[in-house]
Amino acid sequence: MNSKQFEGKTAIVTGGTRGIGKAIVLELARGGCSVAFNYARSADEAESLKKEVEALGARAIAGQCDVANTEAAADFTKSVAGEFGSIDILVNNAGITRDQLILRMKEEDWDAVIDTNLKGAWNFCKAVLRPMMRNESGGSILNISSISGVVGMLGQSNYSASKAGMIGLTKSLAKEVASRKITVNALALGLVETEMASEMNAEFREKILAQIPLGRLGNVREVAEIACFMLSPAAAYITGQVIQADGGLAM
Ligand code: NDP
Repeated sequence: MNSKQFEGKTAIVTGGTRGIGKAIVLELARGGCSVAFNYARSADEAESLKKEVEALGARAIAGQCDVANTEAAADFTKSVAGEFGSIDILVNNAGITRDQLILRMKEEDWDAVIDTNLKGAWNFCKAVLRPMMRNESGGSILNISSISGVVGMLGQSNYSASKAGMIGLTKSLAKEVASRKITVNALALGLVETEMASEMNAEFREKILAQIPLGRLGNVREVAEIACFMLSPAAAYITGQVIQADGGLAM
């Protein structure tokens, strides 16, 4: 693999301040990519990550932008395209959980999860398409989904629906933009060691761990490496696919 395989390329990663998003931002930057990322609340983390990216010799843009807000997503994308001159890569990573059994789930918990995870991804896909279609070499979009969207998970009707929706979005958009050399894929992740995973009920976590054939949770660095492969020229012939990285949990 070319260690500077993203030299001259530009990317937007949503929800870049923590966990998987942060690891993808850093992995792209190590590959020579200019990276813009947004966040909801973590301004201090964003500032320190921006410095970390710049220390790797890559350009960075950090901005507060709620992915669920269509206008804000369009404005953020427009300013990134203006500053970087192009957008080659989009990673729809920002996501939240509001787990609860459906009988007890509040309407606002359904709305928040669908708006952030699914509408947020749609907002950014829509916003990047015009600049991406201007690229002679096309572009690549990666949607961070979950095996919860593939097999369903107890207490996650909102989250499972949002992540299954991302898979439909991935396949539909892949067909719409293939002629423009833009690939659209999804990663359906199993349990990955991040703050989101640590919020999980300890008993439930142990139960899931016991069902993972590889016997451990994933880590953010290995997920970022898989993401970067899917975004790299080596994966240019892969589109509309859902790659499961879950230690074998949902075979
Ligand atoms: P974290 O909770 O660690 O980080 C979430 C990131 O998303 C943060 O940067 C957060 O910003 C940002 N974010 C949340 N809401 C918004 C919003 N409305 N607008 C903009 N940014 C927002 O999550 P993970 O790293 O664990 O998860 C990343 C993705 O991977 C998610 O889509 C998740 O569903 C998916 N995934 C995770 C798994 C896991 O086990 N961890 C398993 C399967 C899928 P801020 O810091 O400002 O809050």
